[in-house]
Amino acid sequence: MWIDINAHLELMSSPPEHVLEATRAVGVNFIATGTHPDQWRWIEGQSPYAAFGLHPHYVDQQRQWLTILEDLLTRYPQSAVGEVGLDFRSGMASKESQIHAFESQLALAQSLDRAVIIHAVKSHHDVINSLRRVKCERFVIHAFTGSHDIASAYLSLGGYLSAGGLITREPKPRVISVFQSIPQDRILLETDAPDLPIAGEQEGSPAHLPLVGRALAGILGLSESALQQLCTQNAQNLFDYDFSQSN
Ligand SMILES: [Zn+2]
Repeated sequence: MWIDINAHLELMSSPPEHVLEATRAVGVNFIATGTHPDQWRWIEGQSPYAAFGLHPHYVDQQRQWLTILEDLLTRYPQSAVGEVGLDFRSGMASKESQIHAFESQLALAQSLDRAVIIHAVKSHHDVINSLRRVKCERFVIHAFTGSHDIASAYLSLGGYLSAGGLITREPKPRVISVFQSIPQDRILLETDAPDLPIAGEQEGSPAHLPLVGRALAGILGLSESALQQLCTQNAQNLFDYDFSQSN
């Protein structure tokens, strides 16, 4: 069984039942990850593995989301917090409001003892500061593409780093040298579907996860089955789910 730790089922152009059929056929289970309250309602009950969180893209557009989020996380004790984080590209909410929303969700994850799936774009230093301020140690940086130094900072806080479809492309991105050098018990896999498609595809799908795994196995010099076992165990350690149930 492969585990895709981050897929956005409702954003895909194929209907969910087709995606589920395709993922079952290739032995993939995935975490259906949330981005904003309307979408949390959509994924609620769709998958045994869900994450609920307010993505930085939607900060400032939502009101009273934190109460709804706390209620959902309480009702689904197996769910994680995500995607949450900081994205300092232009056109996004102010830095202050993003940091406030991010730290509120880190604190909620801490109080409920949940893992956090983090989105960090042009913001690694601030993400690290927030993690330190809230003392959050149970997290993964999704689709990590940062430097060795940034990777070490996340690892020393207790975090995991997740590899996505980018590593299937040629020429290989520079981040592969980070995955080659970090402890193997901190590596996770994802598709971020429908974003970050693998080489040769227009749209990402959790059914492509084995191909991301194959690329990473090659990069690390491991067999595919050894990598699959390793990453499934890592996902189990971080999320504390029994991933044997299919989506
Ligand atoms: Zn993201």
